Amino acid sequence: MTSVQLEHLHKQFGQTVALDDINLQIAAGELFFLLGPSGCGKTTLLRIIAGLLQPTSGRINFNDRDVTQLGTEKRNAVMCFQSYALWPHMSVRENIRFGLRVRKMPANQQRKQIDSVLALVQMQQYADRRPNELSGGQQQRVALARALAVKPACLLLDEPLSNLDAKLRLEMRSEIRRICKSGGYTTIYVTHDQKEALSVADRIALLKDGRLVQVGTPADLYQRPANSFVADFIGQTNLIAGMVVGRQGDLLKIETPAGMINAKGASLGGQNVVVSIRPEQIHLSRNGDVHATSSKPEINHLRGWLDQTTFLGESSEHVVSINGHQLKAISSPPMMESAGEVGLQFSAADVMVLPE
Ligand code: ATP
Repeated sequence: MTSVQLEHLHKQFGQTVALDDINLQIAAGELFFLLGPSGCGKTTLLRIIAGLLQPTSGRINFNDRDVTQLGTEKRNAVMCFQSYALWPHMSVRENIRFGLRVRKMPANQQRKQIDSVLALVQMQQYADRRPNELSGGQQQRVALARALAVKPACLLLDEPLSNLDAKLRLEMRSEIRRICKSGGYTTIYVTHDQKEALSVADRIALLKDGRLVQVGTPADLYQRPANSFVADFIGQTNLIAGMVVGRQGDLLKIETPAGMINAKGASLGGQNVVVSIRPEQIHLSRNGDVHATSSKPEINHLRGWLDQTTFLGESSEHVVSINGHQLKAISSPPMMESAGEVGLQFSAADVMVLPE
């Protein structure tokens, strides 16, 4: 198993800075995600780790060994491309054998290794088919099997699920995790889909404009975002700019255009802040219920006007206007409400206070 260390990586294409001082420690056997909006530099970083692209400066270590100047094969990194890149004229078995033959593995070992990875991706019964006789999900499994057959030091996946339909994408998320974890492979996975990252990753590095914004577990990024960009990118949230106007015990009092909001346990000392409240933390009620419990400072109460409710199956999403500011609330199970005045309740403990 191989750990990967990236030290002060910098990549420039002409005037464009694609990566700026990237430092990361990826543990052996970790399923590590590079996540971020289009153009943030994730594919460039993956290609540099693969050895397909040279950094302008900085260093890449595999198990503390400097591999910066080594080609892809010498560092034994294997990249799985979005398109799968399977040979159309070869069977599944021959596709997997190809890399083993290039590496001059003895024939009897090749057979064993092919059987073993076919079993891992549960494709034994399709071994003699050609790629065009397989579904998209099955082709994805073959591409993974082919990459894993060479026992890579590091498996690199570039948006591996982007060619699959929504249902299959969900299915393959857990399959990729099962396959990577059961073999103990160090895997670096690029995606712009935050749900994919949250549901599959051990840890995520979120990038913006070529820089690391936050590195942590899915729960870290979701529950303790470093700033409003992270809060907004990871999951849905309501962001409201505000000003800290006082403290009452462990409650921070924040004046916002939507009204006074109390936040519990927040430590930010600055005056100007951004509060983040997840839509699923906001409970809607009609007027009477709001007044009944309005005395507790740990529970925030706002009044607004329900503009719109959208039925989403297992939940419904509401848009509420408060003083010209729109907030989203999600109710699960779904609650169909007609437009009109509503109360919004959310706990002070669910209010995240972020730097402006
Ligand atoms: P996407 O999700 O759209 O694939 P990304 O996060 O993978 O985006 P990169 O492809 O790594 O982003 O690109 C990062 C930046 O570097 C972008 O501004 C891009 O235009 C630029 N870039 C990438 N490759 C080259 C290149 N070969 N020449 C010039 N600029 C490039």
